Amino acid sequence: MKWSDVIGHQIQIEMLHEAVRRQRLPHALLFAGPSGIGKQIVARLLAKALLCVQNSETDLQACETCGSCRSFDAGTHPDCLTVSKPEGKAILPIALIAGEGDERGRSGLCYDLSLRPMLSRRKIAIVDDADCMNAEAANAFLKTLEEPTPDTVIIMISSQPDALLPTIRSRCQMLRFRPLKSSEIAELVIRLEWVDDRQVAEEIAALSDGSLSQAAQLLDPRWRELRTMLWTGLSAEKLETGRFAAELLEQMESKASDAGERRNAWSWLLRFAVEFYRNELTELTRELSDFAPTDNTPNGVSNCWDRLERTNQLLDRCLEEESRRDDNLNVSLSLEAWLTDLAQLRRKESAVR
Ligand SMILES: [Zn+2]
Repeated sequence: MKWSDVIGHQIQIEMLHEAVRRQRLPHALLFAGPSGIGKQIVARLLAKALLCVQNSETDLQACETCGSCRSFDAGTHPDCLTVSKPEGKAILPIALIAGEGDERGRSGLCYDLSLRPMLSRRKIAIVDDADCMNAEAANAFLKTLEEPTPDTVIIMISSQPDALLPTIRSRCQMLRFRPLKSSEIAELVIRLEWVDDRQVAEEIAALSDGSLSQAAQLLDPRWRELRTMLWTGLSAEKLETGRFAAELLEQMESKASDAGERRNAWSWLLRFAVEFYRNELTELTRELSDFAPTDNTPNGVSNCWDRLERTNQLLDRCLEEESRRDDNLNVSLSLEAWLTDLAQLRRKESAVR
């Protein structure tokens, strides 16, 4: 992969190039931004170029042929140290950062960084999920950040930089990464050969919130089926809460084998609902703007305003549900309560008319 292959993030990449040209690259960087948008790809390209032994010190291009570049591509570079949260774990264990028990101070990232480089001019550490360090690990890591060994560059990656210790944040130069544009996600989905149909790629991209990892989940047609099912139900004249809740639940459970996956399905469902009502708002706003000021159809206008207000309330209810973060959430109960509220909001409106 080369810099030119990266989609999006051109400003951030240019800032890194400029810093290297001026020989002003900070020894600790913090790449912050939503997950699944390519922060790690940029970090790896930066690391590879900084480790390359053929390029000049002011040029951030890896030669692709030297021993360092080859070793980097093989994932065996002794001077590129990477740590990340282990699969299925919520925290980055202290063992990876500073060693544990008898090994404290004699293994882990901080120790490895204190050693001299073996193949390249410097050592690079990539700390993914940096905000997942617990206080003990963060404090151990802080010492390394405060007294860096010369010729080390630490790249921390975080989707929740506010969760980092302020003392850590203040010792890093933060580079903020933005979500990708929908068109960029569609382009990536095609380029990665995840789908070959551009319309499907655009549909996935529109739902992905600018995140490739979310787009990856939407490749599964069952998520898109869930969305179709929800949208059909929400468009129906009458919302039959009980039956509809049971159908949706069945569809979600066919996707989810445990409570965590069920919660994931639930958050997708809410995201689809938010999208549904946002689309409806856009449509209504367009309808309203079509009424000319001299239009002699006051009923039409007021009807449209009423629907606009109702849709806003429905959207608010979905957003409220989406903002609830509860690990002990009972999906089935929440689903029913939410649909009941939606049905009630819709009934209230019909009664007014
Ligand atoms: Zn090279």
